This record gives sequence, structure tokens and C-alpha cells, in this order.
Amino acid sequence: MPFKNLNSFDDSNDFNIENIIIGSGAGGSTTAFELFKQKKECIILEDGPNVNDLDFSNIGKNIIKLYKNNGATPLISNNGGPIIGYGQGSCVGGSTYVNAGYFSNTPEWIFNKWFKENKTILKFDHFSNLIDEIKSEIKVNTDQLTSVDNDSKILFEKSKKLNWQIEKCERYSSGIVGEEKQNMNKTYLSYLSENGVNILHDTRVLKINTQNGEAKSLIVENRLNLKKYKFKFKNLFICCGPINTPFLLQKNRLIDNNENNFEFHINFKIILKFKKPINFNKSFKYNPDHPVSIYFMREFEKEGALLSAANSELPYILATASHFSDEIKKDIIKNHEHYGMYIYQIKSNSHGQIKSFLNNPYVSYSFDEKDTLEIKKAIERTSKLFFDDDVDFILYPVENSGHIKSQKEAMNLSQNFQKKKLHLVSVHGMSSMRYAPNKNSLTDFNGKLKDFKNIFITDASIIPGNTGESPQATIMAFSKFITKNLSNSL
Ligand SMILES: Cc1cc2nc3c(=O)[nH]c(=O)nc-3n(C[C@H](O)[C@H](O)[C@H](O)COP(=O)(O)OP(=O)(O)OC[C@H]3O[C@@H](n4cnc5c(N)ncnc54)[C@H](O)[C@@H]3O)c2cc1C
Repeated sequence: MPFKNLNSFDDSNDFNIENIIIGSGAGGSTTAFELFKQKKECIILEDGPNVNDLDFSNIGKNIIKLYKNNGATPLISNNGGPIIGYGQGSCVGGSTYVNAGYFSNTPEWIFNKWFKENKTILKFDHFSNLIDEIKSEIKVNTDQLTSVDNDSKILFEKSKKLNWQIEKCERYSSGIVGEEKQNMNKTYLSYLSENGVNILHDTRVLKINTQNGEAKSLIVENRLNLKKYKFKFKNLFICCGPINTPFLLQKNRLIDNNENNFEFHINFKIILKFKKPINFNKSFKYNPDHPVSIYFMREFEKEGALLSAANSELPYILATASHFSDEIKKDIIKNHEHYGMYIYQIKSNSHGQIKSFLNNPYVSYSFDEKDTLEIKKAIERTSKLFFDDDVDFILYPVENSGHIKSQKEAMNLSQNFQKKKLHLVSVHGMSSMRYAPNKNSLTDFNGKLKDFKNIFITDASIIPGNTGESPQATIMAFSKFITKNLSNSL
């Protein structure tokens, strides 16, 4: 059954549904799936477009269409740090549609720390059972190396040479080359839709009406014709992602501020030019189903650092090189086969805050100097790993840094870069609305919004802290935990 939009309903429709879920990403889909299993009536309202009828021939145009803010939301430092471009999906399936599909678990030591600090009542054993439940519902596998994954092969060989720990990534996939990624669209949302649950795309929630500590109705806009609709409900689940959930609540004056609880990973992306051709990915098509990296180099995982291959299509490499000279960009176009790109992911120590400013989310963060040290390590470690007879130069994401041709030049850069000149991105945000064992906490351990008896948060906002690993599975596990816990009280 296809996903719908508000055009399928007559104007006079009076929507009155027991449970409304705002957002169809990792958190929203999982909540709806759990509610459906409990035989509870529900609907999902999704701001972004349907993905079924898109023209995938152009990567750039699809990023503009399927991401919030045409691709990147700026995270703006309030203490001299760099602007970080934050990517978040906005379409049916949310960020799970656009993401790389890595399946990772929050490590036990991080989880136990959350438990010790009273940030969750969920124990690691129970959490692991929820992860197993997800694995029984969605295919998770490792992928095979193909002719377009030479970047991954090189990562593997060079890591082995240094005896650095490297292993295959688990991914939401069947493991069969050419098959689609197992995102929310293909799994929970398809199942729900086939079983009569409405998933309405191009449907933006503008206003939450409340009375005496209870949410009563929503004002919703059909983005295709700007008509407004009213939705009544018994319970409201907000799953708009770690930035848009606190934003929607602030815009509606249901919370004052969300402290400095927004945590994120930093992606430090490097571009390498190899002396011989290594990159045979000639595609210009947007294909979020395709595996990105086959391996994760995990030698420094306890410090929150992971290294993987990045997208190898020319438009992605050019977009990452946008701050380099025309000469460098021309060479990338001419010699694309010689170029590869990698992501060194850092569990950032910096924390951010989301505010509603002129009806838009404004994200500020305080740059933690520990992240300067992490970036130094990123430069030093990647130069140690990659510089060899087969590498011509590395382009680091530091403005005006140019070609770095040796480990010595890389060491020099690592000692002398200015933080303001860094070009960093992030695609993993979390914990902006997390439970805290103090009186200022905006939510309780069941994701219930303080002072409102029927508003629950079940997306990335609610997880207790920085996972250091790809967060989707953890978000889904917390969404399941909360929705299952609530089953008797809804
Ligand atoms: C490029 C990229 C790669 C990533 N790779 C991985 C990976 O490999 N593995 C991994 O584990 N994680 C990955 N992530 C992160 C992961 O996808 C997210 O952490 C996760 O999807 C967040 O879940 P969520 O439910 O909080 O929000 P989302 O999945 O972002 O969903 C939120 C949805 O809410 C909708 N929404 C917002 N406001 C409104 C409103 N007012 N009305 C209606 N709808 C609204 C949005 O349009 C969006 O669709 C990646 C993310 C990106 C962007």
C-alpha cells in the first residue's frame, strides 16, 4: 500500500486518532511499529516527501530534496570553534533513508557509565535483548567487497600492515550485492502501511495545542498546497530528530531551553590522491542503498575514534573539496580514478543547545579544547596509516592547507592548524532531550515530557549520551523500551 499525503483526504476531514507520531525516522517508525504490535491505533505525520517517485539521476538535487535545510544545518560555535555542517534526512524514513546503514551497538562500557550516572534505568542486558529483537525484525549483515570498494580494500590492507584492528561493518542489509538497504521505508513503514496504518508525507506539524498539562490537538500543514488541518489525539509521540524535537517544543513554548545536552560526532573527512587509479565508481546517481565502507578501523574505538571509507562518487568528493582551490578541484575531476575519501569519526566532547530563532532551529555549541587534541590525533594517525609509496598527497579539511605530501608535513599541520579554519561535518546528533536525574530534567526515563501527561519523546533526542558508535540501533532500542513500558498506561 503506498504512503499517502493529505491530498488523499477530503478537506472537511476531522482527524481524531488515538496515537500520533510526528516524524517517520528511526525513532518514529519504531514507536509506530511497537504501538501496532500492541494493537493501538496510530498515524505517522512526516514533514518530508515520499521517496518512491524521485528522479535519482543527480546526487546534488536529491540531497537538497531529502535533507533538512537543503543539506546542512549549521552548528555555530559560541567560543571560536568552527561551524559544523550537520546533515539530517527529511523524507519518509527520515535520516534512515539517506544514511549509510551501519548497524552498531553502544559499547557496554559506555552504557554502564550512563547507568551509573543515573541517566537511564535500562540495563545493558535488557538493552542487548532489544538490539537482538531489532535484528530479528530487520536484516543485518556484512557486505562483500566489489570492484567499486577499492578504498575499503586499501583501508584493510594498510591497517593490517600496522597491525591496527579492523573489521567488517555490520549493516542493515541482506548482504547480497545490489539489494536495497534495510531502512525504515523497506521494513517497519512498509509493514505498517500494508496493515492499514497511515503514513502521511509532506505533512508538517506547526502547532501543538495544550490545555491544563495535556496536549489536545495539532495544527498541521499540507506542504503541497499549504492548507491547514486539525488533528486530535490521546497521546503524542514527538520523533522529529535531535534538533527538530526540541525546536518544535520551544517554538510552541512547551519547554524553555534544553540546556547543553546536544551531543554529536565529528566527521573529519580526508581526500587522498593515489599514484595509481583505485576508484572505479563512475556513478552520478543518488543511491543511498549502496554500501559506503565495508570495514571500520577500530584500533582507537575506546577513545571514540573510528575510520571508514566515505562515498567515492565524484560529486561527493567535490563537495568535500569545495574549500580547496580551483586547481585542486579540476584535478579531482580530471583524475577522479586516483582519488579516495575517508571519514575519521570523533566522539566529540563539545555540547550544543537548540533554540527557536525566527521560527527556525538555531544550534549553538561550545567547542571543547579536547576536540582540538582529537583532531591532532586524526591528522597524525591517518598520515601514519596512509603515507606510503602509493599515496601522492592527502587533502585535510583545513582551509588553505593544500597538498600534504608526507607524514612530516602532516605533523606540521597537526601542530599548527587553527580550529576556526576546520571544515567539519556531523550526521550523528543525540541526547538533546535526555533524562537527567535532577529537577531541571525536561523528560523522565520513559521519555515523558515534564509537566505534560501525554507527550512522549522517542527519537535520538532521548538517548542518554554520546554513543561513540553509529546511533540508529540505540535510538530504536530506546524507542522500543519506552513504547513497551508505556503499553499499559496508554
Ligand atoms: C548522511 C547520514 C548518514 C548516517 N549514517 C548512519 C549509519 O550508517 N548508521 C547509523 O546508525 N546512523 C547513521 N546516521 C544517523 C541516523 O540516521 C540518525 O541518528 C537517526 O535516523 C535519527 O533518528 P530520529 O528518529 O531521531 O530522526 P530522523 O531519522 O532524522 O527522523 C526525523 C523525521 O522527523 C521529521 N520531522 C521533523 N520535524 C517535523 C515536523 N514539524 N512535522 C513532521 N515531521 C517532522 C523529519 O522530516 C524527519 O524525517 C546517519 C545520518 C545521516 C544524515
